[in-house]
Amino acid sequence: MIEWLFLLLPLAAASGWWAAKRVGTSRGDAGPRADSAFLRGLNFLLDEQPDKAIDLFVRLAEVDEETTEVQLALGSLFRRRGEVDRAIHIHQGLISRPDLGREERGYALFELGQDYMRAGLFDRAENIFDELVEMKLHRERALEKLREIYQQEKDWARCLEIAGRLRRLTGEPMGTESAQYHCELAEEALKRGQGAAAVTQLHQARAADPACVRATILQARMAMDEGDSRRAAVLYGRVVRQGPQFLPEILPELVAAYRRSHVADELGELRRLYRIHPSPRLVTMLAERIQEKEGDEAAIAFLVEHVTGRADLVALERLLALRASKPADAARTQAVLRATRAVIEHLGAHQPDYRCGHCGFVARRLHWQCPSCGHWKSIEPIQPAAIDNRTPALPSDPTVRAA
Ligand SMILES: [Zn+2]
Repeated sequence: MIEWLFLLLPLAAASGWWAAKRVGTSRGDAGPRADSAFLRGLNFLLDEQPDKAIDLFVRLAEVDEETTEVQLALGSLFRRRGEVDRAIHIHQGLISRPDLGREERGYALFELGQDYMRAGLFDRAENIFDELVEMKLHRERALEKLREIYQQEKDWARCLEIAGRLRRLTGEPMGTESAQYHCELAEEALKRGQGAAAVTQLHQARAADPACVRATILQARMAMDEGDSRRAAVLYGRVVRQGPQFLPEILPELVAAYRRSHVADELGELRRLYRIHPSPRLVTMLAERIQEKEGDEAAIAFLVEHVTGRADLVALERLLALRASKPADAARTQAVLRATRAVIEHLGAHQPDYRCGHCGFVARRLHWQCPSCGHWKSIEPIQPAAIDNRTPALPSDPTVRAA
């Protein structure tokens, strides 16, 4: 839907210079007719009727081959419809015109570059966007496209170079992106066994973005590989401060670092981390440790307290599994049931009751016409999904959840 609106941006610019041209030069009697037809074409696009717009622009182009903006609109429409060859043909035709002005040439080149990208002809697209940067036309957009190409090609060194040029051109810091490119280069260096090069890249990553959690994780992993588990534990601690939401990602490594550096109170450390970021993975691990060290009842008490505050289905499943393995105890059973009901009530209250079969829109009540896509009778009550009973009980390995 929205993509047609993006199409209007270059068109608006295009009709801008058309209007300017029409003031300066006489276009004979084809002008006003073509003008209103062009606006009709735009209206078809706004009404999401691209096929009608294409028909109209094709007829316009036959009447008036000179009209650059009609050709641009047509080429762009063809590309968006997946007819890249036709788009390329039109845009190549445009830029081969000797009378084409500098501005118009810039638009046509930018469109052609996008055609080549869409066709996977990255070398050609790269040449075009380089040319635009050289011509100082659409410089920022062309640099963004070059960055896109180099990202697809995983040419991180060139991504860094483009990020630098964008920074100088726009004043945007580009720190997050640059740090990620340095991390990519560090990972490549590590794969080649070039530790020193990786260290340099990671330093540069942190210089570009001091909050780059990926760089810290990589530094911690390198310290672990070098056998420096004490330094690794310190670095993992920094990860927790920089981005506690990434804690589940590093949890097994972090615990391994604690173990190897002989952290005395591992359970206490896990409890401290739990207070910072109680992710399902950490809760599962912590419940296991509590069960090992303090017994089943302590683990059950911990899980009851946890699910009382959070609708965490993984933890609830752990709790029910632990409870099922124990002989019944009235008070404990009541506590578990209360906690279970609280989780289910919370999830039930936030669950949509109706879904549109056409666009996926979810609703809390029945609409006969979908408010999102406008279809009639496409919204129906949601039926609970069938549970696959062959699924084995959840294993205690937290990594299985990611599979
Ligand atoms: Zn819908």
